[in-house]
Amino acid sequence: MANRSCIIRLSRYKNALNRLKGLNFVRVFSDNLADAAGVTAAQVRKDFSLFGITGNRRGGYKVEELADQLNRILGKNQLHEFIVIGVGNIGRALLHYPGFERSGIDVAAGFDIDPAKYNPQSQPPVLPLEQLGELIKTRDIKLAILAVPDYAAQQVLELVLSAGIKGVLNFAPICLKAPPGCIVNNINLETEIENLIYFINAAENRK
Ligand code: ATP
Repeated sequence: MANRSCIIRLSRYKNALNRLKGLNFVRVFSDNLADAAGVTAAQVRKDFSLFGITGNRRGGYKVEELADQLNRILGKNQLHEFIVIGVGNIGRALLHYPGFERSGIDVAAGFDIDPAKYNPQSQPPVLPLEQLGELIKTRDIKLAILAVPDYAAQQVLELVLSAGIKGVLNFAPICLKAPPGCIVNNINLETEIENLIYFINAAENRK
């Protein structure tokens, strides 16, 4: 069974392949993809073999075919609808980020607890939390992005899961645990920046 790091590498290989496709490459070797993803060529081959993808030593992989296979594995061959809960600074930015649409991700609506944020006419609309269950059910939405404050995150997680959401990307600065049957990926921007600062300081101190 592939783990989270392996799937992140597949996304990086897929992005590198799309760039190569744009440059009219017909074939690609594991070394090229390894360079793009910052791993070894052996790692690329190991990741591919988990999914039964085989190349050949001389010819490498056909770019078109490999891109199709990776897109299928990553679910890129279908449109995925998301909802965003919490339309503050982060939520609003995600709601209007044009890069999602280019990669087959469609933000169906934003939800907030604050009536001042409602805007049912905007695209995507911002709706009251009370309408969340109905939208998830009628559109069969499985994915949610949480951008609420830390104190509200656990309660909002329980709300979206009980409404049928299966995967959550959590931007609230608190680590949420997923109950069985669903997945929560926590993204804490402050932790990421602290991590950078630590390694920059460590490198400076070694000089
Ligand atoms: P802003 O500048 O709009 O206050 P912010 O990102 O600094 O943005 P936060 O306090 O992090 O504000 O809240 C983010 C958003 O989450 C706000 O729009 C807030 O109304 C909303 N929010 C807070 N609690 C809940 C909740 N329980 N359910 C849904 N949305 C919530």
